Amino acid sequence: MSLPAEVDVLVVGFGVAGAAAAITAHDAGARVTILERTGAGGGNCVHSGGFLFCVDGPAAVDHLDALCFGKTDRTVLAAFAAGLPEVRQWLAALGGETAPVDLAAFGGMLPSWPHFPGAGHVSYAQFVPHAGERPGAGLWRAVREAVTARAIPVVHGARATELLIDDDRAVAGAVVTGAAGRHEVTARAGVVLACGGFEADPAMRDTYLPLPLVSVGHPGNTGDAVTLATQAGGALWHMSAFFGWLTFVAPGHPAAFTLDVHAPSFILVDGDGRRFADETGWEVHDRVRALTAYLPRRPNRPRMPGWIVFDETARRAGPLHGIVGSPNDYEWSADNTAEIGRGWISRGADAAGLAAAAGISAATLADTLEGYARAVADGRDALFDRSPQTLVPLTPPLHAIPMQPGVATASGGPRRDARARVLRPDGRPVDGLFAAGAAGSIWGHLTEHGGGLTDAIVFGRIAGAQTAARVH
Ligand SMILES: Cc1cc2nc3c(=O)[nH]c(=O)nc-3n(C[C@H](O)[C@H](O)[C@H](O)COP(=O)(O)OP(=O)(O)OC[C@H]3O[C@@H](n4cnc5c(N)ncnc54)[C@H](O)[C@@H]3O)c2cc1C
Repeated sequence: MSLPAEVDVLVVGFGVAGAAAAITAHDAGARVTILERTGAGGGNCVHSGGFLFCVDGPAAVDHLDALCFGKTDRTVLAAFAAGLPEVRQWLAALGGETAPVDLAAFGGMLPSWPHFPGAGHVSYAQFVPHAGERPGAGLWRAVREAVTARAIPVVHGARATELLIDDDRAVAGAVVTGAAGRHEVTARAGVVLACGGFEADPAMRDTYLPLPLVSVGHPGNTGDAVTLATQAGGALWHMSAFFGWLTFVAPGHPAAFTLDVHAPSFILVDGDGRRFADETGWEVHDRVRALTAYLPRRPNRPRMPGWIVFDETARRAGPLHGIVGSPNDYEWSADNTAEIGRGWISRGADAAGLAAAAGISAATLADTLEGYARAVADGRDALFDRSPQTLVPLTPPLHAIPMQPGVATASGGPRRDARARVLRPDGRPVDGLFAAGAAGSIWGHLTEHGGGLTDAIVFGRIAGAQTAARVH
């Protein structure tokens, strides 16, 4: 598809936020074009778990504010909270089915933040996929089909590399670079930055995020929203915020694999072979932070890479990689045997055998496992206060997989207001520039489970409505 010279609304990025903005603006009568730098689009939604959340009740904004550590204006959070109850209806109107999440099925993973204000009013849902489809891929299919049904033009292989700025410092369109060269597209009513975070750009990760992190998600998210917004005078926010996962980096695979153990019979140990955290107490997206500390007496970061040590019950309980997807073209085996065969997972008949196979200090690992066994026998974890419910024995043979902290979505990017307008450092909007989703997410520090897709949908819809309202 070729690029038009002029549109009403130019949407940069064909993920969920871009699709929501485009559908909303189109349905309100605007002429919309979507740019997508990659060949397929879908962004991180394709790999996501398709989880959504909602918080309502009088403490909804307090809940979000507490998660953001006060770093997000309450007016923005109020706009988000107002849009959350409509997310599932909006997907239903596009033909997508969602279902409430059965919390018991997630073994303590949900609710994410039960001790925060308003937590009793948080609910979770998940997209219901077609047979053989992942929930995130199903959600993306529903949204993509709605764009196609409306004949909204999507130009693939088209990267917005610069914004057109007029004499009044308003954004008037974008420079688009692709295989066919350089084009200028005028956007009469506005440009919506829906081009994701910066997690796929190693230099930005190192500059802004607090850890050496690997990326588990979409390769197209190289922080273009940061570059474009700052070029137009926009301010940034939340640059050190992210949510992540424990991951395994496999040779020859571009993205890291997210790791989850489907039974409680596991512990985490650092590079020295010692436990360092309450393994089952950390929120699933935030537990990577347990890897951040280093021990000053050591010449390195002994927690990285660390290891997940698990037993035979946990090995059989399900694939270590699988709750969410991955850009890697690889299907993880259901009982993890293929990955043992590949040498990704080490195995030993006992602590000494595992230490030898994995290259962990045998004496330290034996000491750690003895200490853990004592905690199990006592029903009390004196070291890290792990929940007695998950203090279960590790039954040999034992296994270990190396783990590193990974980033799923970097939150930082252009600062927006409740109308999805990109703001300047002095708080005034950059005329004609809007942002939604992971392109400067609302999440200021911690994130609710399902907070990425809902941010994309709620603020994509707001940006679409706001830009369409500017069409004369
Ligand atoms: C493994 C994984 C699991 C997840 N699971 C969940 C979950 O269950 N629930 C949840 O709420 N969130 C989840 N998330 C987060 C969620 O997927 C994202 O927050 C959400 O998809 C962001 O949508 P977006 O449209 O804002 O951006 P993205 O999905 O990142 O899409 C941005 C798009 O813009 C394109 N682009 C980038 N730069 C340009 C440019 N200059 N020009 C044109 N195009 C450009 C990119 O190629 C990409 O297609 C998960 C993330 C990962 C990685």
